Amino acid sequence: MIARVTLEIALRREFDYSIPAEFEGRVEVGTRVKVPFGHRTVVGVVTEIVGSSSQTQLRPIADVLGTRSLVTPKVLALARWIAAYYCCPVETALKSVLPEAVRREEAGWRERLHVHFLPTPAAPPVLTKRQEAILRIIEEWRSLPLQDLLRIGETTAETVRKLEDRGLVSIAPQIDERDPYARERILPTTPLALNDEQSVALEKIKAAMGSGAERPFLLHGVTGSGKTEVYLQAIRHALELGRGAIVLVPEISLTPQTVERFKARFSSGEPRTLVAVLHSHLSSGERHDEWHKIRDGRARIVIGARSAIFAPVEPLGLVIVDEEHEHSYKQEESPRYHARDVAVVRAQRERAVVVLGSATPSVESFHNVRKGKYTLLEMTRRIDDRRLPIVRVIDMRQEPRPPRGGAPSVFSRPLREAIRARLERSEQTMLFLNRRGFSTSLQCLKCGHACGCPNCSVSLTYHRAARKLMCHICGHEEGVPERCPAPGCGDPSIRFAGLGTERVEDALRTGFPKARIERMDSDTLKRKEDYRRILTEFRLGRIDILVGTQMIAKGLHFPNVTLVGIVHADLSLHQADFRAGERTFQLLTQVSGRAGRGDVEGEVFVQSFTPFHPAIQYARRHDFIGFYDQEVEFREQLRYPPFARVALLTLRGRNEDKVKLFIEHLRRELGKRFGDWKNLIIAGPAPAPLVRAESHFRHQIMLRTVAMSRLSTDLGLLVAEWPLPEDLHLTVDIDPVNLG
Ligand code: ADP
Ligand code: ZN
Repeated sequence: MIARVTLEIALRREFDYSIPAEFEGRVEVGTRVKVPFGHRTVVGVVTEIVGSSSQTQLRPIADVLGTRSLVTPKVLALARWIAAYYCCPVETALKSVLPEAVRREEAGWRERLHVHFLPTPAAPPVLTKRQEAILRIIEEWRSLPLQDLLRIGETTAETVRKLEDRGLVSIAPQIDERDPYARERILPTTPLALNDEQSVALEKIKAAMGSGAERPFLLHGVTGSGKTEVYLQAIRHALELGRGAIVLVPEISLTPQTVERFKARFSSGEPRTLVAVLHSHLSSGERHDEWHKIRDGRARIVIGARSAIFAPVEPLGLVIVDEEHEHSYKQEESPRYHARDVAVVRAQRERAVVVLGSATPSVESFHNVRKGKYTLLEMTRRIDDRRLPIVRVIDMRQEPRPPRGGAPSVFSRPLREAIRARLERSEQTMLFLNRRGFSTSLQCLKCGHACGCPNCSVSLTYHRAARKLMCHICGHEEGVPERCPAPGCGDPSIRFAGLGTERVEDALRTGFPKARIERMDSDTLKRKEDYRRILTEFRLGRIDILVGTQMIAKGLHFPNVTLVGIVHADLSLHQADFRAGERTFQLLTQVSGRAGRGDVEGEVFVQSFTPFHPAIQYARRHDFIGFYDQEVEFREQLRYPPFARVALLTLRGRNEDKVKLFIEHLRRELGKRFGDWKNLIIAGPAPAPLVRAESHFRHQIMLRTVAMSRLSTDLGLLVAEWPLPEDLHLTVDIDPVNLG
């Protein structure tokens, strides 16, 4: 027999090798092997077993890795689909399908060196700053693999050995099964009695599981309508049928709170199983072990972010994609797959039922309902008929401005009063602004110069705590000038403009000196535990006002929050993106959904300079269908998704003239190859919205077609053979969510 092998050194080709007698019976589709390639030996995966080969002089497989294949034929087939549709080599797709931690391991379980924190002796020895920092990391984790520590702490084994010499830590080999939630105590729960709308949804889902081939479901349920309870009971049904389930949630809402709800239901009683968790904050050891629990069939339920869609659950009965409209389901590096769309494809291939859930479905998914491709399940009411919050839109143009161009105040009068009232009643407030930092730009009042990043086409953000100007694209930092740095100006009247979360926090501390205030954004969350700590304190009522970026927008459930303020609703409206309105509608609805989840009715204040924009007005009325109907009108006119699919080609390089020259070539080539296609729109080339990032110029061509599978296959071929100078990079993004 002959094995067809794809090599890890992405070559976009497969090679045939003979299977020597000694490996007979151990090589199947998905087996990892070592094979000779030129003068080297490289690792690859068997993709097919064939009877004959067109290649002459086959060389034999040199070695077989592992005792069983890691890639099941089904997952392999999925990887092939991803490669074809998202224009990347099969090897690249395979890398996403198998976590690094699993792929690297040469022979199953292995002993690893672990570093353990030891309680400090009476007189702690004097440490260098560096050693101290490493010790703090170990203390935080209690115990972690040495490899992970070296990576996280950017340190050397030698430094860690020094800590061991001083009796502060111990280092020992260990084969343990890591459980990332081992420190949690989780109380079991039992299924709740469903309300009418929940029951209807669950009956329909169960019926589909019985019948096999069904259309995907779109569960449109308002915030707080009890979608998660429906998921839990649907999963229970899948287990009873002897099948497993995958639950995808956006990385940002993969909070301990979410995971606990699933563990609590299935950790005792019948049917009972382990719940495996897969996401990017696990150590590689944890990820390895979680993956094997699934592969062994001990964990029949997987909850995770994007890549969990590749979990080796078999047989697969149910896939749930919660918050299906979320853009983080799209991977922003090759393979640029969209986990929701992969979920639909995988479920269809494995005859599993797929449920896409959201309070604000994507225009694409709802369009599929209208076309009859998806089945709609609706939950229009909150549990216990709690009212949706009252949303008040505040016209910031009417707010008094300080004389002589000072910064306008952060809070309108009504919002300020509402916050004060909550403090008096000991209720909680969440304030939302999707931009961190203190102010978004530093601008000279005299000449208009704004301090920009030397590497990117954006202005620098002022971070007051750090006393620095920073670029949010490339991380560039510089000091804050006292005078305008523009040549020939030097005027001292340089001012900060625009808002960030840091400034909101500052305004709160000034306005409400007695309130207990916390801010949550990526600047304040430096440590692994911070996120959980702040949320716990907020839940316990030790924080009155929580300020944050989108981190606080999703999936959190705090009954005592009765006020939500959206400080600047227009931010996401001004993006150069056909989805700007949709994004704004979703964000406002999700953030509003945090209010009034307890017994007291909630109130939401939306501050805006464009208060009559449809995205804002429909969100105010909680009217998804109204928003959808007006939104699709313009999408249809301009042939944007869902009426066509988009392929975005971005060429980048340091030399702008060269980028422009080559993208013109590319445009001509596209015209040659696809010019006679019907209903294909080729737009551009044009500068990308962010024309310069990290010192690279970026220019784009956008293609729109209804026949994307066919186009992407042809684009894949073009990209593979298109000659580009080494200093230019071309990316192809199919169904992009970021037009960047
Ligand atoms: P969603 O995901 O739709 O925003 P959740 O699933 O978080 O809503 O439900 C909101 C709250 O209602 C949760 O505290 C949940 O435990 C509770 N809940 C859900 N279904 C029921 C039910 N049938 N009876 C009582 N409480 C329920
Ligand atoms: Zn920059």
